[in-house]
Amino acid sequence: MRLKDKVAVITGGGGGIGAEAAKKIAKEGAKVVVADINEGDINRVVEEIKGSGGEAFGIVVDVVDKEQVDKMIKGTLEKYCKLDIMVNNAGITADSKLVNMTEEQWDKVVDVNLKGVYNCGQAAAKVMTEQGSGVILNASSVVGIYGNFGQTNYAATKWGVIGMTKSWAKELGSKGIRVNAVAPGFIMTPMTEKMPEKILDMMRKKSPIKQLGYPEDIANAYVFLASDEAKFITGTVLSVDGGVVL
Ligand code: NAP
Repeated sequence: MRLKDKVAVITGGGGGIGAEAAKKIAKEGAKVVVADINEGDINRVVEEIKGSGGEAFGIVVDVVDKEQVDKMIKGTLEKYCKLDIMVNNAGITADSKLVNMTEEQWDKVVDVNLKGVYNCGQAAAKVMTEQGSGVILNASSVVGIYGNFGQTNYAATKWGVIGMTKSWAKELGSKGIRVNAVAPGFIMTPMTEKMPEKILDMMRKKSPIKQLGYPEDIANAYVFLASDEAKFITGTVLSVDGGVVL
């Protein structure tokens, strides 16, 4: 087991990539806090982890709300007494061409994908600094690196996540904290199921290995980056995208 006795919080842990990450991290021996805005999804993932012999509990959180985020970290410490791994996975899309994008679409995506990551990263960093150890993992995207049609808001936030990742790696390294980002390509989750089949097919064809990704591909990357196998890796952005942009 690569994460034995570690304590991990995964935001957006109720669905898609986050749920798979929570399950894999638990399978590697960590105690997992499944944090999501949706209580029903949390309960399903927690039960699944417990059913496979793992340890988990759930916390309902809107990552945009600093007070709720602070409560999530407090609840984690009350239950498990420490925080080793913070996976800032929660993220949303609200697509539109630039000329049609509304202020609401912009604000919503910036709030969850940037402010949410900032809120959770800051709260986790305070605890990890006291501990003198920890790993923070942030969800970026291939779209953050290369941009995408109809995703001005999303691309801006995912590029912003890379900026935060690198800044935190510089600030927190001397405190024993590693910070990295994962940039998934097109992964089959409820988020991408909303996309037209035409686009998904185009992405599949663009990949040299002619595949789309699955949540387990990203979860595996999180497990690796959280483990001691990655002890010399910080401030990096790991693309897990089937080579979709080369
Ligand atoms: P997903 O299937 O939509 O899951 C995201 C989870 O986060 C959902 O359970 C969602 O709850 C929850 N959530 C949404 N807003 C939240 C908030 N304010 N506070 C707490 N939880 C919230 O998304 P995914 O595809 O797994 O993506 C996970 C991450 O990977 C995101 O950051 C995404 O941008 C990134 N990513 C995904 C892909 C991809 O192809 N799927 C590619 C690149 C990057 P609800 O379902 O109730 O909204």
